[in-house]
Amino acid sequence: MYRTHTCGCLRAGNVNETVILAGWVQKVRNLGAMTFIDLRDRYGLTQVVVEEHSPAEVRETAATLGREYVVQVTGRVVERSSKNPKMPTGDIEVAAERIVVLNEAQTPPFTIEEVSDGGDDLRMKYRYLDLRRPPLQRNMILRHKMAQEIRRFLDAEGFLEIETPYLVGSTPEGARDFVVPSRMNPNQFYALPQSPQTLKQLLMVAGYDRYFQIVRCFRDEDLRADRQPEFTQIDCEMSFVEQEDVLEIFERWAKHMFREVMGIEFAEPLRRMPWIEAMEKYGSDKPDLRFGMEFADLTDLARGHGFSVFDDAQYVVGFAAPGCACYTRKQIDALTDYVKRPQVGAKGLVWIRMEADGSVKSSVDKFYTPDEVRAMAVRCGAGAGDLVLVLCGPKFKALAQLCALRLEVAQQLGLRDPKRFAPLWIVDFPMFEWDDETQRFYAMHHPFTSPKPEDVQYLESDPGRVRANAYDFVCNGTEIGGGSIRIHDAALQARIFKALGFTPERAQEQFGFLMNAFKFGAPPHGGLAFGFDRLCSLFGGAESIRDYIAFPKNNAGRDVMLDAPSAIDRSQLDELRLSLVKPE
Ligand code: ASP
Repeated sequence: MYRTHTCGCLRAGNVNETVILAGWVQKVRNLGAMTFIDLRDRYGLTQVVVEEHSPAEVRETAATLGREYVVQVTGRVVERSSKNPKMPTGDIEVAAERIVVLNEAQTPPFTIEEVSDGGDDLRMKYRYLDLRRPPLQRNMILRHKMAQEIRRFLDAEGFLEIETPYLVGSTPEGARDFVVPSRMNPNQFYALPQSPQTLKQLLMVAGYDRYFQIVRCFRDEDLRADRQPEFTQIDCEMSFVEQEDVLEIFERWAKHMFREVMGIEFAEPLRRMPWIEAMEKYGSDKPDLRFGMEFADLTDLARGHGFSVFDDAQYVVGFAAPGCACYTRKQIDALTDYVKRPQVGAKGLVWIRMEADGSVKSSVDKFYTPDEVRAMAVRCGAGAGDLVLVLCGPKFKALAQLCALRLEVAQQLGLRDPKRFAPLWIVDFPMFEWDDETQRFYAMHHPFTSPKPEDVQYLESDPGRVRANAYDFVCNGTEIGGGSIRIHDAALQARIFKALGFTPERAQEQFGFLMNAFKFGAPPHGGLAFGFDRLCSLFGGAESIRDYIAFPKNNAGRDVMLDAPSAIDRSQLDELRLSLVKPE
């Protein structure tokens, strides 16, 4: 028997028991008469003590121990004279009677403790050492617990967990595919699934009614912000459902997760916000509702007063930053610099101060009377002491820029508290998104999403007006999940492909398998997928999904620990009949 207990479980009640522990040496403190060894495993930390009267071999072995040695310690649990209330095991220590070195360790490249001195790159290279640290272990445990709760809930609701293949043809979700060459089919390639979208729809055709899978998805995107080339979705699909049915069950699921994992109860139904409202009030289809600062359309008030910037703008929009009228010139300049950064892209920022004495002051006083300025501020909901911030431009551009500013101000005001959660549904998405560059419509969700029946009439005449039976689950300014009711009718699917610019031949070539399947009795169906990594980071209160993935890639899509991707042998290339072109 390697151990009788873990390093996290001994308490005052175990005093006088003889125990065997096994784990890693986190720290050795040699105080002359006494040596303290902090022994760690994933359950916790226990202090082991070696004293002058300990057996000679124990003292000798203790003297040789280095950080991260793997040891087995047999000893008696004793009450500590100076207790450590910060440690769960802080009431006791183990007086060593025997220490066996199970394995030595090189000095690790960084400290393996709650807080490490290692930089990002180094910790990624030695990820297995970083994973030994308590914060990452807590993250992995959280992830595990969440996966169990997901399965428990969905199983109880009659969902079947069915695996779908990773070597598939392309399933378009708007990103680039990762491809895998086929040796047995020379010059042909598999694609790794961007999601099991079409496969789960085929499972509905096959009668599997309620499906789920915690599944890896692969998207070859530039890794802006917090993305990983492979990530995990909680992928679900249901038959004989309407949007309301899907929202009902997954709202219950979300509440179940908050309750069981976080101990947070959401008694009220979650808010449902139409897409256009989210855009106009928050400038985003994933609004952060932990705080207010709603936008107001100021276009009619702002235009026609000789201020050409506003006169020439399609849209003028602002919000009130609570209590910020006291911002200094310097602070306001910093906000102006913020909106002018290329990532935000605004040309300038107009501000209005609602002073405590009831007067107003603004950066556009030259063009407006105090009453006109006040009217704009009041429309933004500003009261005395608030600062109104205003941007203008093409409508959706100005909204997106103001959204960035709203989040920045909220950050400065400490309103983005990771311990608070403001989940909601976004509904009534537009079906299509126009792309200026390529001069065509794209599916806002994906091409299998059904239009709202009442909008189908505009499919050909006014595609921009068609709304989709699509929905997103959003929390704290992040999209956590999304899905749609699907098209289950081959003729309607063909019309959508046409609206998206597919010729019938190309649609047949790419999606023939699905359209054919729909000819054999496809039930009405719909579903959604949640980003599991992101849900973990949301619950864990962390910014990055990387911290919740055991072996993530870095920003360049590399696994620096495995040194992948990497070159392969000539013989492997030959077998695959591939020849390489040297990059420029
Ligand atoms: N497959 C979709 C996605 O990955 C989700 C869905 O529609 O179920 O976004």
